Amino acid sequence: ATMPPLLSAIANAGRHGVLVKSAVVMERLGQVDTVALDKTGTLTEGTPRVTDIRPLAGSGLDEDALLALAAAAEHPSEHPLARAVVDAARTRGLAIPDMRDFTSTPGIGVTASVDGRKVAVGAPARLLDGAGDAASARAETVAAGLEDGGRTAVLVQRDGAPVGVLGIADRLRPDAAVTVASLATLTGTTPMLLTGDNPRAAGRLAEEVGITDVRAGLLPQDKVTAVHEQEKAGRKVLVIGDGVNDAPALAAAHTGIAMGRAGSDLALETADAVIVRDELATVPTVIALSRAARRLVV
Ligand code: ADP
Ligand code: MG
Repeated sequence: ATMPPLLSAIANAGRHGVLVKSAVVMERLGQVDTVALDKTGTLTEGTPRVTDIRPLAGSGLDEDALLALAAAAEHPSEHPLARAVVDAARTRGLAIPDMRDFTSTPGIGVTASVDGRKVAVGAPARLLDGAGDAASARAETVAAGLEDGGRTAVLVQRDGAPVGVLGIADRLRPDAAVTVASLATLTGTTPMLLTGDNPRAAGRLAEEVGITDVRAGLLPQDKVTAVHEQEKAGRKVLVIGDGVNDAPALAAAHTGIAMGRAGSDLALETADAVIVRDELATVPTVIALSRAARRLVV
């Protein structure tokens, strides 16, 4: 028997390195008219590196002590920023202290108890929200300087007080700009960027890939709201993401695609399709495959 067109398309997508989970998904891919992309791990390679280590004056910490403290708290996290912090500590040959009581909040950061003191590592805007003391003001200035340089700033707090800021940088995927352009041509709409990262770093990267609709500082639920807004306006939204923080939006979207290599387990399970071979440019290819198959379905 000849294979039904949608099943052939699934096999074809597989040859391009994209795992499409069902014939229904294969069909839906060709219907999308709006694309929303995550930043960290999706438009970027997802292997960020620590570029700046800035202990705050009065913290009593030097660079190594600050990095080791942050690495202790980040140790159990699967977030790309957490892996960057732990890798940097290992590269410097630092002993990473033991920690306990780890908690993780998607889009914000992590907390843990290290040597009996509570350590928080995460988004400066979230952790410093409303703080008016001098150390917080200094931390904010350092973070803003790093963000202006296109870095993601990560704040480290000990017992509620800021002790330092880390600057982290990730490389744009080589096929990010060309993929954004192909998706714009295919759907008739320029893709939008949905990110939990800061508006400064997000804006810089958006400019490089040709995205003008940038929504930054989003919590996981805010990404869902952005998707629902589009769908209420009659759009069929494709979400592409990699993180735990993207899972709710992947579920809410008409179709969700997860980045496979560095993607979190939750994103891979929630998404309708998975980019196994780690090439973003395969997305326009599978949309085209879907459209071709649907023309053959009577
Ligand atoms: P994106 O939407 O770009 O993939 P996330 O929603 O995962 O980003 O994270 C948003 C922000 O929350 C990060 O830029 C960072 O400031 C902070 N954050 C989240 N998880 C962590 C973590 N494990 N360590 C440090 N910062 C974190
Ligand atoms: Mg991400």
